[in-house]
Amino acid sequence: MQPTKKLYYDSSMLCQFSSEVLDCTPKGDHWLVVLAATAFYPEGGGQPADHGRLGNAQVLDVHEKEGVIFHTTNQPLSVGTTVEGEICWQRRLDLMQQHTGEHILSGLLHNMFGAENVGFHIGQEFVTMDMNIPLSEQQLLQAETAANQLIWKNIAVECSFPSAQELEQLDYRSKKEIQGQVRIVTIPQGDCCACCGTHLPYTGMVGQIKLLDWQNYKGGTRLTVACGGRALADYRIKRQQLAQMGAMFSLPANQAAQGAQKLQQQLEQTKAQLAALQNVWFDTVAEKICPDQSPIMFVEGLSGDGLRSLCLRLCERTPLPCGVFSSKEQGFGYAIGQKDGNITALTKAINQTFGGKGGGKPFLTMGSLQATQQEIEHFWNTYKEDTTP
Ligand SMILES: [Zn+2]
Repeated sequence: MQPTKKLYYDSSMLCQFSSEVLDCTPKGDHWLVVLAATAFYPEGGGQPADHGRLGNAQVLDVHEKEGVIFHTTNQPLSVGTTVEGEICWQRRLDLMQQHTGEHILSGLLHNMFGAENVGFHIGQEFVTMDMNIPLSEQQLLQAETAANQLIWKNIAVECSFPSAQELEQLDYRSKKEIQGQVRIVTIPQGDCCACCGTHLPYTGMVGQIKLLDWQNYKGGTRLTVACGGRALADYRIKRQQLAQMGAMFSLPANQAAQGAQKLQQQLEQTKAQLAALQNVWFDTVAEKICPDQSPIMFVEGLSGDGLRSLCLRLCERTPLPCGVFSSKEQGFGYAIGQKDGNITALTKAINQTFGGKGGGKPFLTMGSLQATQQEIEHFWNTYKEDTTP
């Protein structure tokens, strides 16, 4: 089959066209349509395929094989007729904003710090870029600023097919060895790269480039980036969340973090006050324990520290085993202790009986188990009777 004429290389802004249908083959529930010429970009070079319509048929996917472009449609088209095509411009513009933005940022990271882009993916919400070297926050912010300055200069993006001789003289980025004619995308002062994708004609149309996150990845740096409309959408979500957070503290959105910090300080103070009050209460409770008692107590709302603290106080009042339980989301958390004793066997038995987990020192164990208060009390009293000589 003759290679398809790629109208998107004549103009990446073309979204409506007409062309002759050369072939239409059923495939599963869909059809594979070949045209003489198309503005639909097939998946390739990290850029997803265009969607849109051919006549009344929806174009769901587009791919290229040996120069022929196949449109996956939900309806058949008559071979030999001329069909009107329209690509989904919102999707294409978004993909070109992400793709062109990636060129600018990758090119600048290459020029400024010698970083190579070794992976690129346009996801549903964000773009992921893998750079082959570690990059500091300062370096990344420097590149982000330079990238946005290049956008504001609104420079023309140039695409060309240089001859083999011209190519030899050219210093360009390339991810792999390319067979046949190489297409070079040049953004003066920004990037020079071999690429088969579609790009915006001017850098200004990228709108903006925002680095959302970065982390160490396989000895290099993985960047999460949003360009153009995606950067605006991300800004809206973040502003809304900050405004909501600020409102909780009666502060403007840009002071929400101070509000959260203050809240955290107050929480720490409250925790300290609660612990002090708990200790006073624990002392009062422990005073009532007699030396011949093996106390078991159920107290609501105790943390691990609270369980331990109360249990150790009870152990000071009696040489017999002491147990403190506090209900959790499921079952109970516990601390079991015995002054100068060994409650290893008791802990093992209670864990086995109630599917519990936990352990610790011979004189103090902590854990959790699944049972009702009555079941635990019954076990405690029975177990004590069994060990009585
Ligand atoms: Zn490209």
